[in-house]
Amino acid sequence: MPELPEVERAARRLRRAIVGRSIVAARALHPALKRGLGTRALASLRGHRIVAIDQRAKHQLLVLDDGRAIHAHFRMAGDWAFDRAGDDLPRSARAAFDLDDGSRLLLLDPRALSTLKVLPRGATPFGSLGPDPFSPEFDAAFAASLARRRGAIKPALLDQSVAAGVGNIYAAEALWEARMDPRRSAATLSADEVLRLADAIREVLRRGRASRGRYRDGQSRFRVYGREGEPCARCDTPIERVVQGGRSTSFCPVCQVPDARRRPRAGRGGSALSRSPRAARP
Ligand SMILES: [Zn+2]
Repeated sequence: MPELPEVERAARRLRRAIVGRSIVAARALHPALKRGLGTRALASLRGHRIVAIDQRAKHQLLVLDDGRAIHAHFRMAGDWAFDRAGDDLPRSARAAFDLDDGSRLLLLDPRALSTLKVLPRGATPFGSLGPDPFSPEFDAAFAASLARRRGAIKPALLDQSVAAGVGNIYAAEALWEARMDPRRSAATLSADEVLRLADAIREVLRRGRASRGRYRDGQSRFRVYGREGEPCARCDTPIERVVQGGRSTSFCPVCQVPDARRRPRAGRGGSALSRSPRAARP
């Protein structure tokens, strides 16, 4: 799933490839995209130059020379691709923009959940977004929104008004990094814990940026995400998974759960036994 580092990388590629180019033709290739990008909106893009790419959290704006913007959100599986006008379209192509230098910008999305929408001059999609985790006002705003929050900490982290740009992967990674139980009630975090979690969020996002925003499921670039049943990188306990609000969270049942650390675990004792991952998934 594209999260902040992946979307930052996508916006950088977009900036290099299309700023300064004009749109010759625009097409929506999937019915779901036509909701935000109808025939009239598509036709209105023709002849307009792309003057800038703005990106905040997981939102991208292709700013046009008349002040309007094409707002793109990848949701679960979107990405950009670049080829030549007239090339065969990949199966997952959902929108195509022919540009004045003969190149073509494609929105690829096997799940067809990405959205594109033409925004009028001056409009932004950023209204309800919380501060960027790297901004100076983040820690105070983060503490305030968690204190107001009902329910567990993990779903709170997915709320873009709480931590802009953090999604399911980096939320799980940050909680592991901060040794925090994803099921903890958000409002019960102490000031120190809030800071520890804010630092952990920045740390995992920084790591994501350092790997140039390339995420690969199934490879262990992550400490807990997608590693259910594998040993915890810190304490060797098999990683477990919990489902909250329809999203799953991988976590370590020992080093992220303070009570479990104090309780002696039956059958453990530093032997090789504790290294064997759980045999079967349910
Ligand atoms: Zn652990």
